[in-house]
Amino acid sequence: MAGLKTKNLRVAFLSWKPVLMIRLNKYIFIILAFCISSSATSSELPAGFSKLKDIAPDIKEDIRYYGSHNFTGHTVPGYKSPECWLRTEVAQALKKAQIDAQVLGLNLVVFDCYRPQRAVLSFINWAATNNEATKKEFYPNVEKKKLFEQGYIAEKSMHSTGLAVDIGIKGLNFGTPFDFFGKESWTENTRTTKVAENRKLLSHLLSQHNFTNYPREWWHFTYKVAIDAPVYDIEIE
Ligand SMILES: [Zn+2]
Repeated sequence: MAGLKTKNLRVAFLSWKPVLMIRLNKYIFIILAFCISSSATSSELPAGFSKLKDIAPDIKEDIRYYGSHNFTGHTVPGYKSPECWLRTEVAQALKKAQIDAQVLGLNLVVFDCYRPQRAVLSFINWAATNNEATKKEFYPNVEKKKLFEQGYIAEKSMHSTGLAVDIGIKGLNFGTPFDFFGKESWTENTRTTKVAENRKLLSHLLSQHNFTNYPREWWHFTYKVAIDAPVYDIEIE
């Protein structure tokens, strides 16, 4: 009887073991799936970054490198979603500038924020080609091969650190469109008083919150000085 009991117990255990393993595997799978999804969620943005819409949802987003209406004529590599990502302190500073703009009945609009390093590399490749399909709209008076030399395209961009933003004020005339490469875009070089006033207003709104304008692009601002800030190549998606 004892032997039978032992045998029965062994059979019972043997038949139960696979069920246990299946259950364990199921739980391991669930735990693994949770770990992967939670790590995927946490690796969406670089550490210390935020989505601008989560901090300042009133700021308009017109992310031009996501679509084809930009100087390359195509969606730029790294832009899988039309979102503005920035270092969190930069997004918070922009929120303050937006509050100031709203007092005047105005709204800020961003054209580019964090820019993956692969996008910067694609600009270098683009500049080396002979395709000039977008010349008329974006650089009619500058030779394509001189866009680097004249400072309109950089081989290393502060945008890749999440500390730079291309920005305007919705509905105001700034004299040129965003990313027009030419002297007409130099902040101090304005043809009409209205354009000069609008550029000064934009610079004022942002400088109040620690942004500095790049003198050759009325739309480009960098937050504080951050020479050693790390560069990222995480795709925006
Ligand atoms: Zn810029």
